[in-house]
Amino acid sequence: MKLVRSANYSSILNYVLMHVGATLCFFVKPELGAVGIALALYFITGGLGWSVGIHRGLIHRSFKTYRWVENCLALLGALSGLGGPISSSRTHFVRDFCQSNQGIADSELPRKFWRNYLRSPFFCNSWLEPATHDSISETLRQRTFFRWLEHRWVLIGVMATLLYSIGGLTYVVWGLFARVTVSANVFACFDYFCHSPKWGQQRFQLVGASCDGRNNWLVGLLTCGEGWHNNHHAMPTSQRMGVGRFEVDLGYAMICGMQWAGLVWDLMPPECALKSNALPIVINPTDSTNDGRAS
Ligand SMILES: [Zn+2]
Ligand SMILES: [Zn+2]
Repeated sequence: MKLVRSANYSSILNYVLMHVGATLCFFVKPELGAVGIALALYFITGGLGWSVGIHRGLIHRSFKTYRWVENCLALLGALSGLGGPISSSRTHFVRDFCQSNQGIADSELPRKFWRNYLRSPFFCNSWLEPATHDSISETLRQRTFFRWLEHRWVLIGVMATLLYSIGGLTYVVWGLFARVTVSANVFACFDYFCHSPKWGQQRFQLVGASCDGRNNWLVGLLTCGEGWHNNHHAMPTSQRMGVGRFEVDLGYAMICGMQWAGLVWDLMPPECALKSNALPIVINPTDSTNDGRAS
């Protein structure tokens, strides 16, 4: 089996467009409201939408919710600029397959930052040959609304129109171009910083896996919890990624808020989601006195 990559020209065009648009921040008059809405949208679309709704909700089924809540979260996630539910699920499947198994040709995570960056979904499509069945993506594909969420340019147009009608060009520059540029760069850097022994710590070792991820607190903050990536490798279906007292996981806080409001239920606790091949480097993954350092 081998991993195959090809240039994703639509993504590359989007990446370039967003970066060029973001440079307009230096030319438009700064407005507090525009910066505020960009910040709010960063966490609402990237955190609540993509991390909670698409990643933890649709891909890992780590909680149950109403179908309309699923649709709303998926819409928010698609507006993050990180991909719709189906494409995100496909990318996730390929990566997870390569990292959970050994010996897949060309799947090794490169040690060089730029090689890693340029292999992110913002530049490349990736798939396995021979094709391997991906039941989650196939299930998501059956929903018309999710297929619609894969229309990147429509979503960008809707977002730009909305922001322009609220506050004019400054809101579009900050709330769309600058925000998506930051999101894209954070996630393009993710693979390197969350898999490199230089930049993170481990709570678990994954027996038989080609990669077991690293926990990085800064990435954890910027991605609403996704940076606790070694925890996620070990407990992929857990709705909670930061499991220690100091492992800030905004996505988990959002899920708790939704649970309090009665919007989600049957949350998967970390200890029940632990994979059979995950060997804890500490005994209790929820032990708040643990500092997450390998010993
Ligand atoms: Zn990983
Ligand atoms: Zn995952």
